[in-house]
Amino acid sequence: MTCLVDNFQRRINYLRISVTDHCDLRCIYCTAHQVPRLSHDDILRYEEIERIVRAGAQMGITSLRLTGGEPLMRPHLEVLVGMLKNIDGIDDISMTTNATVLARHAENLAAAGLDRVNISLDSLNAEKFHYMTGRGKLSTVLEGIEAARKAGLNPVKINTVLLKGINDSEILDFAAKTVTDGWHVRFIEYMPFACDGSQGSTFAHNQTVSDAEIKDIIAGNMGELTPVMPSKGYGPAKYYQLENATGTIGFIGAVTDCFCSKCNRMRLTADGRLRPCLLDDEEIDIKTPMRRGMSDEELRKLMSQAADIKHEKHRLGEHVLPAARQMWQIGG
Ligand code: SAM
Repeated sequence: MTCLVDNFQRRINYLRISVTDHCDLRCIYCTAHQVPRLSHDDILRYEEIERIVRAGAQMGITSLRLTGGEPLMRPHLEVLVGMLKNIDGIDDISMTTNATVLARHAENLAAAGLDRVNISLDSLNAEKFHYMTGRGKLSTVLEGIEAARKAGLNPVKINTVLLKGINDSEILDFAAKTVTDGWHVRFIEYMPFACDGSQGSTFAHNQTVSDAEIKDIIAGNMGELTPVMPSKGYGPAKYYQLENATGTIGFIGAVTDCFCSKCNRMRLTADGRLRPCLLDDEEIDIKTPMRRGMSDEELRKLMSQAADIKHEKHRLGEHVLPAARQMWQIGG
């Protein structure tokens, strides 16, 4: 087997797949403005995603994450999960979702082979949640979290992006959930995009809250944070636990604590482009040649080429921001 290894000796074994660019929420920092949605024909069909994953699995891809847009906006997602689960070599399928409709899909997804979910939730206050998501209802997300737990999607992780003056007052509320409800909360540093919600002056790039600041606030108010190593799907986050907590607190400091040297992932956009780095605009179109009859060998070659153009690290520190797509068009 030829493995996917980039020019910096990083082995790529994780593919994040955006299954649609449609999202039912309009999070203030994620969506700058609505560009026209992809047409039905532009979006990869399930059979095409399956073929790409099969080729990837032959090159060492073992883990998949379904994302969007909002992945649950794609009808019958459990069918795709089942197709991917049957591919030799794929041993972990997860999903990142806003959970607005997860309550009605969790059981079917788990039965089809989905292993775990990350749920995006930026506020525990119903009004603020509605403001931050443009339209969301907090209670439906909380129902989604419960349904995921009941369906055995394990672990359920909560992803929270903090913005100063907007939801940073909730740091302790989220941390408390790791004690009272066993939540696994991960604070993800806001990553600036050239075209993101800051364009509409709802917030500015400097409203980001660093991991160090969050850690200080939690430790100062709730006691020591002990480093822990979770068992499954821990990726780039650093995890800690408060005394008496069954849940964990993770930190993903993409900006202030760059983890590019450990990057093991590549992304597939809903319109069939391989994107080696979230924060770099370079992509390789595989949908067009695939629809023109490309062989599996040629497909694997394009996947290798995508690994070859992966940069050593992102350049946010030098103010080089991704500009060709907004976050909702990539999937995080
Ligand atoms: N709709 C799904 C969801 O909400 O989880 C999947 C797509 S969404 C783009 C994936 C994640 O990206 C969400 O957790 C969201 O908070 C995060 N996100 C969006 N823009 C971001 C940014 N600029 N910096 C950090 N995280 C961001």
